[in-house]
Parts: sequence; C-alpha cells; structure tokens
Amino acid sequence: MLLSKVFRASLQSGIRLQSSSAATAKASAASSSYGSLGFSFEMTDQQKEFQQLARKFAREEMIPVAAAYDRSGEYPFPIIKKAWELGLINGHIPQEYGGMGLSIFDSCLITEELAYACTGMQTAIEANSLGQMPVIIAGNDAQKKKYLGRMTEEPLMCAYCVTEPGAGSDVANIKTRATKVGDEYVVNGQKMWITNGGKANWYFLLARTNPDPKCPAGKAFTGFIVDADTPGIQVGRKEMNMGQKCSDTRGITFEDVRIPKENVLITEGAGFKIAMGAFDNTRPPVAAGATGLAQRALDEATNYALERKTFGKAIAEHQAVSFILAEMAMKVELARMAYQRAAWEVDQGRRNTYYASIAKAFAGDIANQVATDAVQVFGGNGFNSDYPVEKLMRDAKIYQIYEGTAQIQRLIISREHLGKYKK
Ligand SMILES: Cc1cc2nc3c(=O)[nH]c(=O)nc-3n(C[C@H](O)[C@H](O)[C@H](O)COP(=O)(O)OP(=O)(O)OC[C@H]3O[C@@H](n4cnc5c(N)ncnc54)[C@H](O)[C@@H]3O)c2cc1C
Repeated sequence: MLLSKVFRASLQSGIRLQSSSAATAKASAASSSYGSLGFSFEMTDQQKEFQQLARKFAREEMIPVAAAYDRSGEYPFPIIKKAWELGLINGHIPQEYGGMGLSIFDSCLITEELAYACTGMQTAIEANSLGQMPVIIAGNDAQKKKYLGRMTEEPLMCAYCVTEPGAGSDVANIKTRATKVGDEYVVNGQKMWITNGGKANWYFLLARTNPDPKCPAGKAFTGFIVDADTPGIQVGRKEMNMGQKCSDTRGITFEDVRIPKENVLITEGAGFKIAMGAFDNTRPPVAAGATGLAQRALDEATNYALERKTFGKAIAEHQAVSFILAEMAMKVELARMAYQRAAWEVDQGRRNTYYASIAKAFAGDIANQVATDAVQVFGGNGFNSDYPVEKLMRDAKIYQIYEGTAQIQRLIISREHLGKYKK
C-alpha cells in the first residue's frame, strides 16, 4: 500500500526551520528538536514518526523489488518517485526553498531504514544529498532557489562530481580545469565514478582554477553548479559494479563546457573547502546506511539461525553460532551510536570531522564484517542468490571506498586525534 501524501504534509507542517548558513540558528533549532535534556537516547515523537514512515516504506515498497533491481541493474526511478512523494528524499533542503529542513540526525534515521531494504536504491537517493550539500552550505539565495527549489517541485536527481580517473583520495590532484573567459568559465576534464551521473539534472563540480602547482589546495579550486544539459557534457556508460547494482555510476567528460559566473559557489578558489566541508554533513548518513545494511544482515541471520536445525537443534542453540550473532549485535549497536553522535554534533553547529570519520570508518567496516558473518550463518544457502545475504555482502564493500576510503578516514581521525595533543 502506498503511504499517504497527507502524512508528508503533516510532517512538513511540524518541522522546524533549519538555517544551514548560520551555525547559531542551526544550533538553536537543533536544541529545540532535542529538547533541553542534557543527555538522552529518547527520540522525539516526530523522529519516531519519520522512522516509522521510512520503515514501512522500506519494508512494503523496497524489499519486495530489491532482488529484481539487483539482477537487472535498472535505475529504481519508480521507488525514488514514491520516496520523493512521501518526503523521504531531499529532507534537508531548507524550508525557505520548499524542503523540510531536516537535521542531519533526522535524515540519518530515514537513511538507516531505507538502507535496510536496499543500499543500491538508498545510495541513489543519498547521492542527491551529497550533490546538494555544497549548495546548502555555500550557495547564495538565488542559487539555492534555482537548484534546490526545483528538486522540491519534481523528483529530480543531482550528483557530486569530484573524483577523476587519476585522483580519488588525493582530491588536490584533480586535473579538470576551469578558465575564466569574460563572464563565463570554460571547463575541460574528466570525472569518474559519479553516482547519479547519468540521471542528474545538475552537478556540483570541482575544478582547478589556479594553474600554479604551488597554489595551496584551499585556493586553487572552485566549486560550480552545472546544468547537466549544458553543451559539451558527455555522460559515459553505466559502470558494472560488484554491488549496489541499481545505483547509476558513470564517468563524465567536460569538453569546453561554459558555465556562467553566477554558478560559482561563494567565490573563485573556495571550492576545495566546500567540497570537503560537505562530508561533515554527508558522512553521518553514509554511516547510517552502512548500519542499516548491517542491521538487515543481523536480522536475516538471526531468523535463519532460529529455524535451521543441525544435530537435532536450531543452529542458534549452538554456542558458536549464537556468539557470532552476539558479535554482530555488538557491532550494529555501536555503529548506530557512532553515526548518531556524529550527526548530533554537526546539528549542534559544532565541527564534527572527527566523529564523522569515526562513524563512517566504523560503520563501513562492520557492515562488511556483519554481512560476511550472515553469509556464514546461512551456510551454503548464504552463497546463493536465492537468499538475501550474498547481496548484502556485495553491497557492503563500497562503504569502505566511497566518501573517503577506510584508510583516508583513519588518516583524518589520526590527524584530528594528534591535533588535540600537540602543543
Ligand atoms: C560506486 C562508486 C560510487 C562513487 N560515487 C562518487 C560520487 O558520486 N562522486 C565522486 O566524486 N566520487 C565518487 N566515487 C569515488 C570514490 O569516492 C573514490 O573511488 C574513493 O575516494 C577512492 O579513490 P580512488 O578510487 O581514486 O582510489 P585511490 O585514491 O587510488 O586509492 C587506492 C587505495 O589506496 C589507498 N590510499 C590512497 N591514499 C592513501 C593514503 N594517503 N594513505 C593510506 N592509503 C591510501 C586507498 O584507501 C585505497 O585503498 C564513487 C566510487 C564508487 C566505486
């Protein structure tokens, strides 16, 4: 049953305003959402409603079609459209631009539920948040109205175009060039692994504007908003990935693409900080997605272990199996706490880089461990695509790669950690 659009409206009407540009406004909005409690694991009634709505949608609409989309690799637009109608996508677009102004914490609750059903679909949905985040944190009023506003009027996708064939982790080494000519910038270069690459209505693009190799990264790059139908943009073939197969990943070539100067975010040279700053807001939801996948693996493994019998009893009654389940449960609980802390920190208006990387690294790792354990609990059936857990194991791997690899997260965590000790 399709959930009512009225529910979306009623949720929207009760949601507070989130001003992403002013940290103080954000902090006070967030504290009103969390109440005046000093420390609490209790969600507000509204947060419980979001979670329930997303859970119902994930289980009734997404799970039944997840295996078919995994087999076909088709883009799950019918699901995305329904999610959009229910307000389960683009939730953090501020209210003044037609969105719901959700906090990162609230968005994470939704993300975990959607990921429980299918992380291929959830990644396609989450890529909108990643594409929009530079505009939310750095766009001016006209840019937000134009590019965020249109996404609340129809179910459109966008994408975050940073990685290139020669540079992923080493963002400062990207080669795409933007040269100012009159009132425009002319862009040439190649991007790779762009989620929603072939479906996006517009892109956030990072390009080098200062050709001097000695220019520091913090000044050498510029962030642009680019309409996807701009002449000179060529979208590559859909990449055949190990998992999350219905998500659309592509290379994109920019050949003499002309971008008006009005589409520069903040100013020339500010792009690197914008591109990296977006991750403080998007890594908690990525960690929430990995947690959703891990929770699914735990649930599937537990139900199977209670039914499957060997040597006269359910395999859950063999201590070796029940201890696997216990380890899985420990990891899922801690990954959830990690993403919730990271989300809460940024919602308070505080710099959360340390917590966001811990959450992303930990949840990405445990999603892989827990999905592998679920395959083990299923035995031979776990290795077979008639059962749900082999998909979870394939889908999990990307959580250790995109939005900063497991190694890059450790680099960030160690830098942040040591920074607290160095005088
Ligand atoms: C399915 C998919 C979707 C993606 N979606 C997007 C998207 O929407 N937008 C976008 O811009 N990008 C996207 N990416 C790109 C992704 O963010 C990069 O693949 C990732 O950051 C790693 O970069 P790389 O592939 O160039 O690997 P490399 O940077 O070449 O790294 C290779 C290996 O070396 C390790 N390594 C590199 N440097 C260090 C170091 N200093 N210390 C320790 N280890 C190191 C890495 O951890 C990794 O294990 C996506 C990728 C995939 C596969």
